[in-house]
Amino acid sequence: MGLLKKKKKKGGLSRSSGASGSSGVESSPLRPQFVEKMPPCGNACPNHNQIRKMLMTIHKAEDLKKSYDQAFEEAFYIFLETTPFPSVCGRVCPHPCETECNRKDKEGAVGINSVERFIGDYGLDKDLKPKMLTDEKRDNKVAVVGSGPGGMSAAYHLARRGYQVTVYEAFPKTGGMLRYGIPNYRLPQDVLDKEVQRILDMGVELKLNTVIGKDISYEDLKKENDAVFVAIGAHKGRLLRVEGEDAENVFTGTDFLHRVNKGESVEVGDHVVVIGGGDTAVDAARIARRLGAKATILYRRTRDEMPAIDEEIVGAEEEGVNIDLLAAPLEIYCDNGKATGMKCQRMQLGEPDSSGRRRPVPIEGDTFDMEFSTLVAAISQEPDFTGCENMIEGKDWIKIDEKYMTKVECMFSGGDDVNLGLVIDAIYHGRMAADHIHEMITGEAVPKRPDLKVVRIEDMYHHYYEEKQPIRQAAIPVEERFSDIDREIMPP
Ligand SMILES: Cc1cc2nc3c(=O)[nH]c(=O)nc-3n(C[C@H](O)[C@H](O)[C@H](O)COP(=O)(O)OP(=O)(O)OC[C@H]3O[C@@H](n4cnc5c(N)ncnc54)[C@H](O)[C@@H]3O)c2cc1C
Repeated sequence: MGLLKKKKKKGGLSRSSGASGSSGVESSPLRPQFVEKMPPCGNACPNHNQIRKMLMTIHKAEDLKKSYDQAFEEAFYIFLETTPFPSVCGRVCPHPCETECNRKDKEGAVGINSVERFIGDYGLDKDLKPKMLTDEKRDNKVAVVGSGPGGMSAAYHLARRGYQVTVYEAFPKTGGMLRYGIPNYRLPQDVLDKEVQRILDMGVELKLNTVIGKDISYEDLKKENDAVFVAIGAHKGRLLRVEGEDAENVFTGTDFLHRVNKGESVEVGDHVVVIGGGDTAVDAARIARRLGAKATILYRRTRDEMPAIDEEIVGAEEEGVNIDLLAAPLEIYCDNGKATGMKCQRMQLGEPDSSGRRRPVPIEGDTFDMEFSTLVAAISQEPDFTGCENMIEGKDWIKIDEKYMTKVECMFSGGDDVNLGLVIDAIYHGRMAADHIHEMITGEAVPKRPDLKVVRIEDMYHHYYEEKQPIRQAAIPVEERFSDIDREIMPP
């Protein structure tokens, strides 16, 4: 938002020449004009959540003579316009909105993520139901493959418009990586269950333990529905391609976390080595600490290049995870089918690769050995495309156009099966796919986002704003975190 001077027309305007009658106010070249601009937080949010509107609803409650309960409820429904998962995202989103916040150079970014969590939990505590966009029940059927954040976001936005939605899920429970990847100490399962249930209560049908491409073909799903949204994520852990990795105590990161998160008891021994630098690697190492082992992360670049969320890396360091940088595995030593250690290569950073990150290059002759009781290879993951190979293009994963439609007509896709991303990216893809499915079925055009100038720090007078320290959800002390593997690190 901002006030700009009206541009003076060529030749100028006389006060008496205005169309507004005797006052001539509208024609004055000096009259300030209201210009709508884009707050940087909402602009940086991949799902374009209306963050400023939500914050102002709470901030202005007293001025507008509203109770805080009224304001919190309104804030909750502002979130639900764009996302059905404020409680989940309030716990796991790396909040790019805060990174762009214009207050970050004053007293620190507004604690948007903590507010989102508070408002999400408020909605759950008060059992607030989503608002439908229509009372009409449509005859049109849409199938959603995968119950992760991408699939459930599409199901939510379609159900709001009265579509008959069925979600097919391969696993025995919903949530995708929210349940089987992200550990419970960061995202308790009952929080996830409640946000998923709220979507199912809108009339969304759920079929668990159903693998599309095996139990039902994608073709049959397409025949029985007006549209299909494919959000199968990326659950296949990538292998190291190093000799010895088929030993029984070597896991991929996704397999290791999946086993722990579904409650399986995993014997890890006294030293777990995790290879990789992303969220999966950091979560696996922190889980290993909670299982009572020493944990070492081996990463081939430096700390700055680690793709994991920075707060999670800091959390791992606080919990005693050792991070061995600029090192890569060369060979795994095995004894009687069990891996016992490995030979590692020291690396240095070379020239930037196509992604702009500096390439790790081996230092000739500089190797070392490392012993472990369990090895977790968390280098990356990819989708299982069985049955939907016709949606892939070349070496790419599922290919979608600007309307989120794949190469196959009426079949849409989004989330990690298109490109590995964040929970909030998958939520956005699900929302956009729902918009475009609705457009395809009804002809109602998807509203365009207004192209507004983003307000930056240089457009503002910082000193005009009263100083206020940001409030953030606090983590429990390190020594209390290991009492229970599921203990929430930031309890309510
Ligand atoms: C360990 C780990 C930690 C992460 N931490 C964070 C974090 O802190 N913050 C963040 O923003 N992001 C994080 N991410 C990324 C985030 O979890 C994903 O980007 C997000 O879950 C992708 O959502 P999705 O719906 O595309 O896929 P998924 O969440 O993977 O869901 C896909 C679903 O499809 C189902 N499925 C697959 N194939 C079939 C089939 N053939 N038939 C039926 N169902 C099928 C799967 O079982 C699964 O339930 C993390 C990822 C991992 C692995």
